[in-house]
Amino acid sequence: MAQVYQVLGSSLVPIDARYEVKGTSVIFYSRGGTIGKNARNTQYTMGLEILLQRILTADAAILGVWVDSKEVQRLELRERQILGPAEMIDGPTDEAVARIHHLLTSRMAGVGRAPMARGPGNRTRRIRIELSGAFSEDSLVTLLNGGVRLEDSPSDTDTASSELLDADDLCFEGTPPESMNILREVLARSNKEQRHLKKVLLKGKTMGPCCICGTFLPDTLLVAAHIKKRSQCTTGEREDYSNVGALMCALGCDALFERGLIIVDRDGIIRKGSKLKSTLRIPKVEEVLDVQCAAYTEGNKNYFAWHQHYHAR
Ligand SMILES: [Zn+2]
Repeated sequence: MAQVYQVLGSSLVPIDARYEVKGTSVIFYSRGGTIGKNARNTQYTMGLEILLQRILTADAAILGVWVDSKEVQRLELRERQILGPAEMIDGPTDEAVARIHHLLTSRMAGVGRAPMARGPGNRTRRIRIELSGAFSEDSLVTLLNGGVRLEDSPSDTDTASSELLDADDLCFEGTPPESMNILREVLARSNKEQRHLKKVLLKGKTMGPCCICGTFLPDTLLVAAHIKKRSQCTTGEREDYSNVGALMCALGCDALFERGLIIVDRDGIIRKGSKLKSTLRIPKVEEVLDVQCAAYTEGNKNYFAWHQHYHAR
């Protein structure tokens, strides 16, 4: 039997959407049943969007997408193809993802339908997404997990934004027990490291300043953010506690920094990130622009440079 994976949403939380990997194909499962009665893959739409976003972000070209449900297996491939290679557009922008998502769902509704059929048709069917390139199953699953290898640690952004995660919160019906055990181990390791990082940054105190906006806050409102993404750090960098992390407030600064909407430049000054659309006005951003980042030091300037470079892509 094929190994079934659950789509990981933000904060490494598995959502109710599943897929399997066959060679360079991703088989995304249909939604079915009714809520309260054998409902499965109820978060189909969100799951598909997340996978498309990750495929586009990784620059993995989609060669084609086909409806793969049992009732259309009799049809020729070209009759159930719902996306061709020429329709791929550049970049992992939200617009590109939304456009492909829309094409897929609107076209799948029409595949194999009787000419006189009424209603909108089924937009949550089993589909096969064929990718170009040589992937091992592991590397493809890692790509679809947004860079998180299950046997590795979750990325810093996951733990940074939601602080410590509790594996029991992640117990979803249908998650294979072995996956839950791996998740538990990963979370335990990551949470321990996160707690330690915060302790180092707070220097044993229970309050501290946000290094971006300067607000003095109790530790429950401060996040030990990784300046360089935790998942991208070498072991040595991960253990470089006094430099790799910085205290940011959970009132906005952590989220802005984590998403690259603000960066810290070579002089330690907070600037707009290139991800921030120039027309967008966010009060919290305006408040901190052109201000010196209080945490900027010789020791962490290369991590800040990494963050700026990473989000300039
Ligand atoms: Zn702040």
